[in-house]
Amino acid sequence: MILILGGTGEAHRLASALERPFTLSLAGATRRPQPRPYPLRSGGFGGVEGLAAYLRAKNIAALIDATHPFAARISRNAVAAARATSTPLLRLERPAWEPQPDWHVVPDIAAAASVLPPQARAFLTVGSQHLASFAARKDIWCLTRAIEPPAQPPRGEVLLQRPPFTPAAETVLMRHHAITHLVSKNAGGAQTRAKLDAAAALALPVIMVARPELPLAETAGTIKDALEWIRHNAGRQGK
Ligand code: NAP
Repeated sequence: MILILGGTGEAHRLASALERPFTLSLAGATRRPQPRPYPLRSGGFGGVEGLAAYLRAKNIAALIDATHPFAARISRNAVAAARATSTPLLRLERPAWEPQPDWHVVPDIAAAASVLPPQARAFLTVGSQHLASFAARKDIWCLTRAIEPPAQPPRGEVLLQRPPFTPAAETVLMRHHAITHLVSKNAGGAQTRAKLDAAAALALPVIMVARPELPLAETAGTIKDALEWIRHNAGRQGK
């Protein structure tokens, strides 16, 4: 049995292509996840120890960390639990977007909020969590786009939408709201990069939150490479 840690499109694409028994694990943060034709489990494991206990109890032959590049805690837990149980671990990680000269790269979300100038009209595309530092800025207006409704919406409007998005629609949206700055995480991938193309077309500054640093792990950048790794590394008898 293979365990895929998910919450991303890549995890679902890997699951659809995998021809071995597996379970895909979701954090349970999305209230109405889309129905899938394969086994899902939902909710945290209970830290490193809980994940290690799950790996042992389910006789997991390989652990695939296909979580979002900004889901740092579960990725760190995966490294520690895999090590503790000698379970082969692969991180499936989409490449980051190439830094552009007009990006203002910041180390975290709080720093992104602090560099916005007064009166900025920011398009926030950093998810529904960790918005407190934007909410504390009463001198800016934000268009906050997320899948889940934010608990602490900053001053402005909230837009609940799922990717993918197109450059044309992103351009119309940014123009309509007279956006002056785009705030993004360096998530990488094609599904959400349209906003960067739209910001470039409108010559808007981009405030880009850099990826968190993670402990070293074997990494694949594509589904094809992940399937190849699984073929070679998850072949132990009886698992
Ligand atoms: P996180 O901070 O790294 O993890 C917080 C806790 O949530 C973990 O310690 C773990 O609980 C649980 N968890 C996370 N992913 C899980 C999974 N796939 N299966 C079971 N438990 C999981 O994660 P996050 O940033 O809150 O993200 C939560 C989920 O949303 C992830 O699955 C991620 O792929 C997805 N997501 C995140 C972002 C983002 O920007 N952070 C964007 C899109 C999607 P225990 O310690 O109890 O095991």
